[in-house]
Amino acid sequence: MDPVMCLECYGDGFIITCCDDLCQSESGCIHGDGEEICCECDGEGYIYPPADPIDEALERM
Ligand SMILES: [Zn+2]
Ligand SMILES: [Zn+2]
Repeated sequence: MDPVMCLECYGDGFIITCCDDLCQSESGCIHGDGEEICCECDGEGYIYPPADPIDEALERM
């Protein structure tokens, strides 16, 4: 299964937590401390979709 882009951070791996509008519209915080590691993908920028339970059952047969 291919990794898919994280929709929480849109592939950046971090989310802007700064309250400055300028930073919200850019790809990073210009102040340097208004960014937080994305909790959805742990900073990877992409996530692996959960394995299909049906496929897993077939592999065990
Ligand atoms: Zn993310
Ligand atoms: Zn900022």
